[in-house]
Amino acid sequence: MAYTYDPTNIFARILRGEIPNKTVMETPHTLVFHDIHPQAPVHVLAVPKGAYVTFDHFAAEASAEEMVDFHRTVAKVCEILGLAGPDGYRAISNAGAHGMQEVPHYHLHILGGRVLGRLVERD
Ligand code: 5GP
Repeated sequence: MAYTYDPTNIFARILRGEIPNKTVMETPHTLVFHDIHPQAPVHVLAVPKGAYVTFDHFAAEASAEEMVDFHRTVAKVCEILGLAGPDGYRAISNAGAHGMQEVPHYHLHILGGRVLGRLVERD
């Protein structure tokens, strides 16, 4: 699969420091920041710094170092934000038109702080 990355997307601009963000945690390969339109009491976005469009792009082409950094950072953020306990959270990633992805830079939504309802609306 050939992935085409658009470097003008809003998260690329955030990663370049062109647009401000409310950072939760930053590492050499990962940035986690608060979503500008939170859908839950806690709603953050974990973004790898590399130019990956979707989850499957990241999973297919990121280095082991990037992948470990990303997932360990998500684990630390869950701990920091109080999500790692029994109440839990939801981690989701939208891809493409069917996934209704708005920003074409891979990101993991991490939502918590309330019961989140069903994963997908039923028709
Ligand atoms: P997607 O639909 O691509 O999975 O989600 C994109 C998310 O990015 C949305 O939840 C939206 O609120 C968030 N978002 C869009 N633009 C900005 C921005 O400039 N700053 C921040 N912090 N979040 C943004």
